[in-house]
Amino acid sequence: MVSELFSLQGKTALVTGGERGIGLAIAKGFAAAGADIAVAGLDESAAPEAEKQIRQYGRKFRFIKTDVTVETQVIEMVRRVNETFGHIDVLCNNAGISKRAEAAEMPLDVWQKVIDVNLTSQFLVSREVGSLMLEQGKGAIVNVASMSGLIVNKPLSQCNYNASKAGVIQLTKSMACEWAKRGVRVNAIAPGYIRTPITAHRFNDPDDPAVPIWREMTPMGREGVPEELVGAALFFASDASSYCTGSILTVDGGYTAW
Ligand code: NDP
Repeated sequence: MVSELFSLQGKTALVTGGERGIGLAIAKGFAAAGADIAVAGLDESAAPEAEKQIRQYGRKFRFIKTDVTVETQVIEMVRRVNETFGHIDVLCNNAGISKRAEAAEMPLDVWQKVIDVNLTSQFLVSREVGSLMLEQGKGAIVNVASMSGLIVNKPLSQCNYNASKAGVIQLTKSMACEWAKRGVRVNAIAPGYIRTPITAHRFNDPDDPAVPIWREMTPMGREGVPEELVGAALFFASDASSYCTGSILTVDGGYTAW
């Protein structure tokens, strides 16, 4: 059955920042495909609602409060997820932030924070989960990059964010090549503009000068919603992509095609 290619039945998926936004949509998609879900995130208050939504699919759920930039917390989180479920088959590195400033005026701490959350965390969590997957001889890692790793978003000044996401793309390809012969696949999705809790205020503001530019520069003429990333994430998480590793899939309404 072709649909079995996309099944995550009997698997455990760990999603960072999965308590809201894109991460929650992906976690729900993985649960719908049969996976039990672990979420590592900062926001404990959002966990009960995320749990309710995941349990609707009849899957197990565990939230572990974790700052994914802190090595000791990441090591402990991965240990607890593995202890709870017995294995981790899928990792989605989704946690991310943006903090904008023009390059000439960007304080070092603003640069560093975005690199730490968006890039270093993906290295850390992948290192810890990847080690387990290598022992298992199988696993799938899905990194959330961005089209900002491939292009510069007009008119946003965010060299830190763009560099972090370009780093995610090379991290993905590097780990993919190191682990390809040992059963662990590493791929990334690169979303365009997506309406999430963190961007909704811009899309809802009729006077935001950037929104018409974004829509004009997107061939489809609109932003996406988190659910439109689920298919791409599930493709990379499942056996449907068994011959893909080091692949970067843009999901951007055509933005990077122009
Ligand atoms: P949200 O802000 O809605 O979600 C980000 C999640 O990451 C939140 O749950 C947040 O927790 C968590 N997080 C942030 N910092 C940490 C940390 N140090 N440790 C653990 N968790 C953390 O954003 P989106 O859903 O929009 O974005 C998700 C991913 O998609 C990001 O990597 C983003 O760069 C990427 N992306 C988003 C696009 C968009 O247009 N929205 C476009 C392209 C890529 P908390 O809520 O507690 O802060």
